[in-house]
Order: sequence, then C-alpha cells, then structure tokens
Amino acid sequence: MDCVFCNIVSWKTPSQRVYEDDSFIAFLDINPVNFGHTLIIPREHYANFTETPNEVLCDMTVLAKKIAPAVLEAMSAPAYNVTFNVGTEAGQAVHHVHMHIIPRYADDGHKLWHGRSGYAEGEMGSTAKKIKEKIRNK
Ligand code: AMP
Ligand code: ZN
Repeated sequence: MDCVFCNIVSWKTPSQRVYEDDSFIAFLDINPVNFGHTLIIPREHYANFTETPNEVLCDMTVLAKKIAPAVLEAMSAPAYNVTFNVGTEAGQAVHHVHMHIIPRYADDGHKLWHGRSGYAEGEMGSTAKKIKEKIRNK
C-alpha cells in the first residue's frame, strides 16, 4: 500500500519531525494553515479516527496535550485547533489517521465553519432523537 504517512514513518519521504517515540511521530504539515501547523500520527497505519483502536487514540490525545502547548509557545500563538478530518467529504486527503494541531491568531482569516442558520420548528428534537437512537445501538 502506498501511503504518504507510512513513507514518512519509514523515512522514504522526508519530513520535519518535531517529536517521535516508539508509537508516534509529530511533524510539520507541508502545506500549513498557519506556520507551525503540526500533524501527529501513529507509526501503525489506521485509515481514520473511527478505525483507530481506543488505546491509540487515548495515547495520541495525551501526547497532543504535550505537543500543542509547545507549538503555541514556539509560534507565539494564543490558541489552536485540534482536528481530525474523517472521510474525503470532510477534507481527509491522507488516509492514515492524523491529528492536526493548528496554531491560531486573532483575525488570521481562517473561519472554520459557516453554519446553517438554524433548525426549523421541531427539527432539532427529531434530529436529536435520530442520533440518540443510533448511539443507543452502538
Ligand atoms: P487531511 O486533509 O486531514 O487528510 O490532512 C492531510 C495533511 O497532510 C494536509 O494538511 C497536507 O498538507 C499534509 N501533508 C500531505 N503530505 C505531506 C508531507 N509529505 N509532509 C507533510 N505534510 C503533508
Ligand atoms: Zn499509512
């Protein structure tokens, strides 16, 4: 399987690593939203957030709590976004699970969401009901 992030893990593709251990690598995104935009990946290949074992996600989250404040300090940023894109339609281009840590600044022009204006009468309740039923069956 040709996976760009597996190639980064195996050094076939160069990267600017900022952290690594036995299980994870963090490196700079080649096309940053803002400078310092960092990706955290497990060395092991999993296609996306949902496909990743719980223990790996837990460790990744704990690691993000160490790396994100360091990115912020290094980049003099007051805030950051942590995101997983899951699925092509959500913007996932690389199908090896990765966590984005994106330093953010006031008025940096990156407005993330352009929400719908709101639910019609009754629609919010019926939407919540649909989701609740699905969660109950998980
Ligand atoms: P996503 O759109 O969530 O799949 O994010 C994939 C990210 O990987 C994008 O922000 C790309 O800029 C980044 N990316 C792709 N190839 C490389 C690479 N060789 N080195 C560093 N970052 C990369
Ligand atoms: Zn991979």
